[in-house]
Amino acid sequence: MPQDWKDELRARYQWTSRTPLAVGEGWRPLLTETFERLDAAIAAIPAQAHGMPFRCLDVKEKYGTLRIEMVPYTDEIEAICLDAESRSEKVCDICGGVGRMREGTWVTVRCDEHAKGSGA
Ligand SMILES: [Zn+2]
Repeated sequence: MPQDWKDELRARYQWTSRTPLAVGEGWRPLLTETFERLDAAIAAIPAQAHGMPFRCLDVKEKYGTLRIEMVPYTDEIEAICLDAESRSEKVCDICGGVGRMREGTWVTVRCDEHAKGSGA
């Protein structure tokens, strides 16, 4: 099976090795940067501090924004995930260009070009 950008991320960050990454490629740079920050945060926390290894359970789009579900969920991990969520409100999930929330059948974040035909 050929590797796509999601497989590359899963290979690079072991704590995401089995994580569903159900988001558009436009969010790839944001997700990559966020994983880098999470990885640094995880590395700085003693391995057994929370009694379990860090793991990313899910990455998805919900109500238009990027959601990253981590366990255990510490204050520092939460801050990074929430920052990514708020930044995703302005990034087209198709091309990564400047976007905004579009309310159509589904709420999505799209640039003007990719908002066409979505009814927004
Ligand atoms: Zn776009």
